[in-house]
Amino acid sequence: MNFKTINPSTEETIGEYELMPKEEVLSIAEQCESAFGQWKAMDISTRASYFRRLAQILRHNKDKYSKIMTLEMGKPIKQSLTEVEKCAWTAEVYADNGPKWLEDELVEADGKKHIVACEPIGVVLSIMPWNFPFWQAFRFGIPTLLAGNASVLKHSNVVPQCSLAIEESFREAGFPENLFRSVITDHDTIASLIKSGIVQGVSLTGSTYAGAKIAELAGKSLKKVVLELGGSDPFIVLEDADIEAAAKNAVTGRTINSGQSCIAAKRFIVDRKIAKEFSELFTKYMANLKVDDPMQMETDVGPLVNEDQVEQVEEQVNDAVKKGAEVLVGGKRLERKGFFYMPTVLTNVKSSMKVVKEEVFGPVAPIILANDEKEAVEVANSSEYGLGASVWTRDESKGLKIARQIEAGCVFVNSVVKSDPRMPFGGVKKSGIGRELSKYGLKEFVNVKGISVY
Ligand code: NAD
Repeated sequence: MNFKTINPSTEETIGEYELMPKEEVLSIAEQCESAFGQWKAMDISTRASYFRRLAQILRHNKDKYSKIMTLEMGKPIKQSLTEVEKCAWTAEVYADNGPKWLEDELVEADGKKHIVACEPIGVVLSIMPWNFPFWQAFRFGIPTLLAGNASVLKHSNVVPQCSLAIEESFREAGFPENLFRSVITDHDTIASLIKSGIVQGVSLTGSTYAGAKIAELAGKSLKKVVLELGGSDPFIVLEDADIEAAAKNAVTGRTINSGQSCIAAKRFIVDRKIAKEFSELFTKYMANLKVDDPMQMETDVGPLVNEDQVEQVEEQVNDAVKKGAEVLVGGKRLERKGFFYMPTVLTNVKSSMKVVKEEVFGPVAPIILANDEKEAVEVANSSEYGLGASVWTRDESKGLKIARQIEAGCVFVNSVVKSDPRMPFGGVKKSGIGRELSKYGLKEFVNVKGISVY
């Protein structure tokens, strides 16, 4: 079967691809398994040196890779460039710290010697979404390979050029042949691959729906999973916040990747006493954003990924308006070719509205009022998601206290939520299982082996 890819900015067809049949995918995975033996036998410091070369290759090809990303999924080009740079930096962070993070641990127990060693497990399958096509793939791939594993990538069919370019970057960096392979295939084939004896673990970044499906498949075959899923992150602005800074960052937090980020701020929970001032500033800054061709360096917000995504955002905003929300800015798609939706701020928002209950994957910001900090935390925790959260206050100790009360994988005080290779990343509740990045991500796909000498 063939499928087409479409430029979301122009609605023109970019390419046509054939899905790889099951036999081909299984054969690629077997080749990957063969490469694992040689790679696993290497000392981790030797493996680390490959990642320094990978960083160089990524930087060398930065313009080319950024253009592919923007072409296939519509991300503003300045953000594509930053994304490739972040992948290169992450490769360096792991090359520098990985050997130390994975060192044997010595434990005092009843024998002569007790060692905890982390050993690779084999071929790990990664299933990735279109929204950060390079970052998601490398955020998983770098630590997993550095730990000594091999990997097959099944990327979203929105971004096949990115998928092939990622595979090529490992090849260009001189990694052993077949250690990292990309497959373009259907979901049934992925189910067979998970079931096969070749794959030892699966990592999925994507929707909560897809995560549950993959967890079910992996569970049946008793394979380890890591799931990085959806989110509806709260952005809490307390009475004593720097309102100007909060409003400016609220714009960044909501509109990064044209609003299509798992860790975008999606519910703005604002103390009633400062809500008017915050809403006015926030609305003004949202209205000033340049929504245009994502290939232009000045563009802040590009198109959404496809027509379905625009229709879903339209439905969520219409539902809010029908239930009494007021549109302060935006509230509709742009009258032009491409899948553009205007940056939108909504007020008079109630918890029964879809913009609060569901994940909104577009530049739409509902403002929810809270009477005090206790109520703000209750509203924040009332979501079925628990990925990230952001709290704005001039009182650091209050910020830290609230950070501990919030049900999320990470909380940022006076900053938007962002990922950093030195810090763990992941969610609780329906936002996922397991962690990526930092030493915790490095240890997800290893056999934590205890060796005792008496
Ligand atoms: P998606 O769930 O539709 O697809 C993600 C990947 O899973 C794709 O490669 C898809 O083909 C694959 N997939 C889906 N169902 C499958 C099945 N039954 N068998 C095999 N593979 C299957 O998500 P998307 O639209 O590509 O991405 C957007 C979603 O990803 C949002 O919900 C977003 O919040 C989430 N996301 C989460 C994180 C995170 O780190 N938590 C990061 C980025 C995106």
